[in-house]
Amino acid sequence: MKTKYLTQNEIELAAAILREGGLVGIPTETVYGLGANGLDPKAVADIFTAKGRPQDNPLILHIPEAGWLERYCRDIPESAYALAQAFWPGSLTMVLPRQDNVPDVVTAGLDTVGMRCPGHDLCRQIIALAGVPVAAPSGNTSGRPSPTTAQHMLEDMEGKIHAIVDGGACGVGVESTIIDLTCKPPRLLRPGGVTLEQLQEVLGEVAVDAAVTRQMKAGEKPRAPGMAYRHYAPKAPVTVVAGDPEKSAAYIAAHAQRQDGIICFDEYLSRFPAQADAGYVTGVGCVQDKQEQARRIFDTLRAFDHTNVTAIWAQCPDTAGIGLAIANRLNKAAGFHIIEV
Ligand code: AMP
Ligand code: MG
Repeated sequence: MKTKYLTQNEIELAAAILREGGLVGIPTETVYGLGANGLDPKAVADIFTAKGRPQDNPLILHIPEAGWLERYCRDIPESAYALAQAFWPGSLTMVLPRQDNVPDVVTAGLDTVGMRCPGHDLCRQIIALAGVPVAAPSGNTSGRPSPTTAQHMLEDMEGKIHAIVDGGACGVGVESTIIDLTCKPPRLLRPGGVTLEQLQEVLGEVAVDAAVTRQMKAGEKPRAPGMAYRHYAPKAPVTVVAGDPEKSAAYIAAHAQRQDGIICFDEYLSRFPAQADAGYVTGVGCVQDKQEQARRIFDTLRAFDHTNVTAIWAQCPDTAGIGLAIANRLNKAAGFHIIEV
């Protein structure tokens, strides 16, 4: 099929395609999503085919306003309303008990559903015009870094989806935070745009799932299958070097080969002259500017696929604030190949 490229003035067409069962690339503030009518099992199944996504990895249902929660969820706890009040529209997904009208293919057969009201005006307008909840995972081929521009999504999805709406570059750059409200205390399943510290302010105690910080062991069952898959990976193998930035820069400079790629904080760009000659050194933002690092991390990983690097080394921020999400994506891209300095 030919993928239609739509501008922000053509969202009525995007909404019509969604309503009629087509696949549409949608901008959100986190990353680009691959959307389909979340009430149409055939359309949702097509998402899995386009991405090459394992069938047991559930999708998030996107709604234009918090008022739609009751249509698809039941036994909604007070905490869900408190979180919606604090963070919606925004980068937070809540896992709640689902109603029977949510197709199995959306939830991979789980009796819960992930719900999000995105903090991107154009995105909410598209969903409202479509008049249906939009099921959407990130718009990358399964396993690859998530797309934060329409161009990046087209690298993976050109010819596989009916249309894409270009809403500009994503402002957050990492996926939504996922909080499971069906257990006590609520459990962080994926760190993202809304930080753990922000969640704790509203919820009090929050458990952090083991899958956030380490690799699942063989035979260990994650709360959602998607948490165990290889993720976000560029073609070359990645090594994460965590710890004091001065030390991690020195470690990488001492160990990187000439043909290796390096992802570093902007302050350290000049420390890798051999690799810089080949254009293989990329800054992700200053040490203190984690928002910028989050915005650039996936683009940086993706850009190395257009080079001949044989390995990639990455400095990693500490886990305070959105650093937890950045470190999680880097560690997963590295298959948890992490060196602490
Ligand atoms: P993606 O946008 O590609 O990151 O995919 C959506 C993510 O949401 C997946 O990693 C799922 O594991 C997670 N997710 C969606 N629904 C649920 C659910 N009901 N319970 C737990 N996790 C979920
Ligand atoms: Mg994804």
